[in-house]
Amino acid sequence: MTTKQNNIAENQLVDRFGRRVEYVRLSVTDRCDFRCVYCMAEEMQFLPRSEVLSLEEIYSVARGFCRIRCE
Ligand code: SF4
Repeated sequence: MTTKQNNIAENQLVDRFGRRVEYVRLSVTDRCDFRCVYCMAEEMQFLPRSEVLSLEEIYSVARGFCRIRCE
């Protein structure tokens, strides 16, 4: 473990390069109309609704990120 990793408090999200992840973005749908090329394939195969997180599950994930101090 590096000195930088030792200085990071517990309950923080850290990537494999030792960088603290301070914020995340959660998509509430996979059917976004913006179609950014780094996110959407030209022939996008959308997931069936049963495989997409419910709003309650998204809320639970968001609360988890809040607990590890991600905005
Ligand atoms: S297409 Fe763009 S705006 Fe839409 S979810 Fe992907 S990255 Fe975000």
